Amino acid sequence: MLFEILHRSKKSSARVGKLRTPHGVIDTPNFVAVGTNGTLKALDNATVEEIGLQLMFCNTYHLLLQPGTDVVREAGGLHTYIQRRLPIITDSGGFQVFSLAYGGVASELKSKGTKKHDNSVLKITEEGVLFRSYRDGAKILLTPESSIAAQKDLGADIIIPFDELPPSHISPYALLTSFERTHRWEERSLNAHLQKPQGQSIYAVVHGGIDIELRRKSCSILSNLAFDGFAIGGSLGKTKEEMQTMLKGTMPFLPPEAPTHLLGIGDLPSLEACIPMGLDTFDSSYPTRAARHGMALTKTGPLNLTKGENARKFAPIESDCTCSTCTKYSVAYLNHLFKAREIAGLTLTTIHNLHFMVRLMEDYRAKILRDEI
Ligand SMILES: [Zn+2]
Repeated sequence: MLFEILHRSKKSSARVGKLRTPHGVIDTPNFVAVGTNGTLKALDNATVEEIGLQLMFCNTYHLLLQPGTDVVREAGGLHTYIQRRLPIITDSGGFQVFSLAYGGVASELKSKGTKKHDNSVLKITEEGVLFRSYRDGAKILLTPESSIAAQKDLGADIIIPFDELPPSHISPYALLTSFERTHRWEERSLNAHLQKPQGQSIYAVVHGGIDIELRRKSCSILSNLAFDGFAIGGSLGKTKEEMQTMLKGTMPFLPPEAPTHLLGIGDLPSLEACIPMGLDTFDSSYPTRAARHGMALTKTGPLNLTKGENARKFAPIESDCTCSTCTKYSVAYLNHLFKAREIAGLTLTTIHNLHFMVRLMEDYRAKILRDEI
């Protein structure tokens, strides 16, 4: 993988770049859609390519449990299995194992830690984490080496080392123990990857919770290892403000030439706040999840398609949108599809929301090139 920075804004740390991977170019900054099980919910992968989404995020944890990464390997890798010609990024599985136990970062931001969690994590040791499969209750040991082996089976363009996601409310001592172990796990993951690179790139995951000193220490440890890029992970705080303060204190400590990714965050206010800090890619299920709840993204804010007042709105979601939904269908028809609980409503709204994200990121890149951001 090659990361080329084409322009650095004169106004902020925002930059426009090109990530060159074995399956094509990703223009940055960019939004990464989440296709947990190898598909974006309600869309097939041919449509996803037509919309122009350059990078798709798939979850190793879910693919490990179903269909099994051995099945994907036998199929010829994830690109062949799911019929996607463009770049893919996979995570390590660690995030899901721990977020099912503690609650994810996004749900932490939303529910402020009040969500109930299961107890699927049975044991965390130096070797790895023993957890119970939510599918059939089987005990599975995930280690840095087994996570990388699974990601080799999948064959994504960008992979992520195995790490621990500590909950934001743990004691400073527990956070430090987790911090040190997670960096040992990342180095083991890197070593396992380097034994069989397969043309894949590996991003380190910067940890440290909202403790700026720990974040900087993490940047220092990880930038001394042969990682190809840096993802900001771990606990991102309880509020968007906490997250942004942490990022402002962390970003200047990453190598300025390396690509950066913010894990699990891609809502519109966060994009606006984080792009000027120099973050290059963002993954989030927000636009696809919003679509399934009848929320269409527009330049003036989300439009609730399910509201009764939209039953006779015989106009597209956005009159200047060139997506295949807006060029054919009216808000009134989409309102009807949601009321009648037709699956096509979810598909058509998801197409619009993803197209909106693609255009939004194009706009961001154009604004950075003009030094407006
Ligand atoms: Zn549209």
